[in-house]
Amino acid sequence: MAKKKKEVDDRFKRFGTVSFTAISKVNDFVKYLDLGKVMGTRCKECGTVHFPPVADCAECLSSDVEWFEVSGPGKLVSFSKLIYAPVGFEEDLPYSIALLDYGDYKVFGRISKDIPDEQLQIGMAMKTQPITLPSGQLSYAFTKA
Ligand SMILES: [Zn+2]
Repeated sequence: MAKKKKEVDDRFKRFGTVSFTAISKVNDFVKYLDLGKVMGTRCKECGTVHFPPVADCAECLSSDVEWFEVSGPGKLVSFSKLIYAPVGFEEDLPYSIALLDYGDYKVFGRISKDIPDEQLQIGMAMKTQPITLPSGQLSYAFTKA
């Protein structure tokens, strides 16, 4: 258990200069995934919602942000099949990435492999669900709502 935690910390070091606040926010995001929840942040100052979560509001720069759960259906606004993947995700190819519109915010991510390509349609309702990748990493994917 302790070993796993250290790996996560080492990985974030590779991003170079990040503030302590940013690191703890991202770690909380992973913690919530582990609990089966996909979370974004909402600014308590101006109400702007962000996904992926941020430590500081991009609109008013307030650091007073709170977590909210990405739940319910979003609308599929675009998707595309990946033939090449970022380093570390090659073994998982091919998969599709997509953008869901939740009204106040949009969520970028991958589509669950349980859904055949031919069933994907722009405008269809989908939901965001936590998943565990073959590599053991925690992530999230879009499934039918
Ligand atoms: Zn704000």
